[in-house]
Amino acid sequence: MSTAIVWFRRDLRLSDNPALHAAVASCDRVVALYAHAPDEEGEWAPGAASRWWLHHSLEALDASLRERGARLHVVQGGSLACLRSAVAAAGADSVYFNRLYEPHLVARDAAIRDALEADGTAVHAFNASLWSEPGDIVTKQGEPYRVFTPFWRNLRTRIDGRSPLPVPSRLPVSDLPEDIAGRTSIAALGLLPDRDWARGFVDWTPGERGAEEMLGLFADDAVAHYTEGRDLPARHGTSRLSPHLHWGEISPMQILAFLREHAGKRRKSADIEPFLRQLGWREFAQHLLFHFPNTAKENFNPAFDAFRWAKRDPHALRRWREGRTGIPIVDAGMRELWATGWMHNRVRMLVASLLTKNLRQHWLPGEAWFWDTLVDADLANNAMGWQWVAGSGADAAPYFRIFNPVTQSEKFDPDGAYIRRWVPELADAPGRLVHAPWEDPSWLQRTGYPPPLVDLKSSREAALMAYRNLRADRAAAGPAPAA
Ligand code: FAD
Repeated sequence: MSTAIVWFRRDLRLSDNPALHAAVASCDRVVALYAHAPDEEGEWAPGAASRWWLHHSLEALDASLRERGARLHVVQGGSLACLRSAVAAAGADSVYFNRLYEPHLVARDAAIRDALEADGTAVHAFNASLWSEPGDIVTKQGEPYRVFTPFWRNLRTRIDGRSPLPVPSRLPVSDLPEDIAGRTSIAALGLLPDRDWARGFVDWTPGERGAEEMLGLFADDAVAHYTEGRDLPARHGTSRLSPHLHWGEISPMQILAFLREHAGKRRKSADIEPFLRQLGWREFAQHLLFHFPNTAKENFNPAFDAFRWAKRDPHALRRWREGRTGIPIVDAGMRELWATGWMHNRVRMLVASLLTKNLRQHWLPGEAWFWDTLVDADLANNAMGWQWVAGSGADAAPYFRIFNPVTQSEKFDPDGAYIRRWVPELADAPGRLVHAPWEDPSWLQRTGYPPPLVDLKSSREAALMAYRNLRADRAAAGPAPAA
């Protein structure tokens, strides 16, 4: 009688789960295990909003398993120790899991695999979350891509590689003794906040079913208008699948198959290419972090190391985090983030631009705040997003392209609906004042909304000057040595 441990990590679903599927196909019995070991993720252990999500996602997975006569066994401690004791207690001969790609987790998983194999336990690992794993896509010269468009052109030819797998029709389970080392419960992991700041996270349903519903809603409507709708923060113009994707409650294979089938059923072919391209950015981010492991902490472009950031300004950082910069579209975004654990992509770019360019604060504190507050906090996407806006990243926005939050707000939130929703002080702002309330100082004073933290025009000039200095410093230092 063969028994497998299926080690769930960020693949919190039963459908299209290659590790679960293979374990059920090859073994007589399976044990579904979640080993909580945040210390192994060091400073990138899940932030507060992610922990909230994880709690509910684990509960959803456990409920789905219970509907099939199984359960999720939750243990806490070092992953290897937890796996070893589960293997011993269940009399298992194999461990199945789906791969993760963050460099520190790749190293951890390789060490765990070696140790288990040395014990005589077979280890089987799979790709559950990407169309193509890092390392599989390289340039003609065998180098990792550093620019998105050629990467995407290559990846686009591979996205039809695998059809999604069904939920296993039977789940022959083996139990684990109640007293195995590290045994705990989801509630006892203490993932939920002490103070209930997450009470506004009401639009989310963590778990596989929530992901399916979100995809269904998107397919019914927004996908057809994605190109125009994706930039309008007042609308539900994007899929909002990011936290579900991060936690592996749905895979890109499932999304692609569903959108195609859905379009077929409705006999309507929405152009899903622009949306698929965004999923391509997600894979590009994983690929960058995998090949350039310091991307989450260091400038991707080392020339940027000489950039003269302004001195760290705790007061400005606090006002930015609290959504009290006095720049309405930025404050709306930061308050949306705090209230819901999510922020619209266009607005993420604007808040990041204000912090790194107008306030000339380093991107690291911004990345850290997002890490703690986003339900979709994802090391690869977050680092790439921040470095893209800051100008230090791969394929980044040119530094001199500094977003003007007022013109962006007028363009993408023309009647100010998004601002009015998240910044109630400006709910009744007449006309253009909703975008630039400082233009009528006496009115502004009556609203209680703060004056702008920074003058947009002069701070833009200062940022451009800092950028010109960087280029001049580099020119004076002479050409970089050949690699
Ligand atoms: P959709 O537009 O529906 O896109 C579908 C999916 O494609 C997303 O769920 C996401 O997985 C992926 N995607 C879309 N845009 C991007 C992008 N620019 N880069 C990488 N993947 C993308 N995304 C995260 O998932 N986690 C983060 O921590 C994160 N931090 C960011 C920080 C900054 C400063 C910026 C500018 C962007 C960041 N993004 C991050 C990318 C993007 O903002 C979100 O993925 C997107 O807003 C999620 O909403 P959605 O699911 O409705 O996206």
